[in-house]
Amino acid sequence: MTDSCCGPASDSETSLVQQMVYFYILEAFPRLGRPPSVDEMQRDLFLPCERIASILDSLAAEGALRFGPVPCMILDAYPYSAVPTRHRVHLREGRQLYCMCAVDSFYVPFLTGLDVRIRSECFQCRSAIEVAVEGGRITSAEPGDSVVWSSASSYDCPMTNFFCCKDHLLQWQETVPDEQGRLLTLPEALEAGRKAAERITQSRQRFNDILWAEAQQLVCYCRQVPKATIVAAIAKGASSAEEIARDTTACTGAWCEDTNPRGRCCCTELQALIEAYSYKLRGGSEDKRGRNH
Ligand SMILES: [Zn+2]
Repeated sequence: MTDSCCGPASDSETSLVQQMVYFYILEAFPRLGRPPSVDEMQRDLFLPCERIASILDSLAAEGALRFGPVPCMILDAYPYSAVPTRHRVHLREGRQLYCMCAVDSFYVPFLTGLDVRIRSECFQCRSAIEVAVEGGRITSAEPGDSVVWSSASSYDCPMTNFFCCKDHLLQWQETVPDEQGRLLTLPEALEAGRKAAERITQSRQRFNDILWAEAQQLVCYCRQVPKATIVAAIAKGASSAEEIARDTTACTGAWCEDTNPRGRCCCTELQALIEAYSYKLRGGSEDKRGRNH
C-alpha cells in the first residue's frame, strides 16, 4: 500500500459501525413507528446479533438511547420514545411518534424531511397545543402565543415542555424555584430542533452510507473497486486494509481525495467494511449473505 493517508484502525473508525447502528435506529423509528428490533437490525445491517448488542450497550452508555426491561429492547432513542409521552408528532402519512421533550419534537421534521403536526399540552393547565411544521417552517400554532421552556438540567426532558402562554410558564416556574433554563418562542424551538438535527445529519453524511451502499457502488475511485469486490475479499479472509489492497487493488492509488466524490481516501470505508462484514461472512450465519449488498 502506497497511500500515506491510510492509517491504522482507530477509535473513530470503530465508531463508524456504532454510528451506522445509531443512524439506522433514527431512520427506522419514524418509518416503523417504533424502535427497530435486534432481528431487524441484524437483517438490514448485516451485522451479527452479539455485535449489535454490544453496540447498543455502548450507545446506551453514551446516553444516545435507553433500554426497556428486556435486554436490547430499545425504549427511547433521542429524540424518539417508544412509550407514550405528552409530545406526539404526527407525520403526514398518518403515523404517530412520541418524542422525549418539546424541543425533541422539533427534530422530527428535519430528521425525516417530512411535514409534521406536533400535538402536546400546556404543562401548567393541560390545554391542548398544536403546531404544524411544513417545509421546515411553522405554518400554524394553536394557541398562537405558545412557548417552550428549555430546561438546563442535566436530564432535561421531563422539564422541557410546551406552555400555552408565557403567563402559564411563569405560574409553573413559581412552583419549581430551583429550575434553570430559558424560554423559547416556537420559532426558536424550531431552530433548536433544526440545529440539533443538522448535527446528526452532517455526521451521517460524513459516515457517507458506505455500509448501506449498493453492491456496485465504488469504494475506491482510484482503482474503480466496487463494494461487492471488497466484501468478497473480506469473505475470503482479508482482515486488514493492507490485505484488501493486496487482493483487490483498492486503496493503492494516490488520488483518492481528487477522484472520490466524498473527497477523502477510501481507507476509512475499508476499515468500516472490515469491521461490519468480517464476522458475519466468516463466522456468522451464512443464510443471509448478500442481502445487504
Ligand atoms: Zn396553559
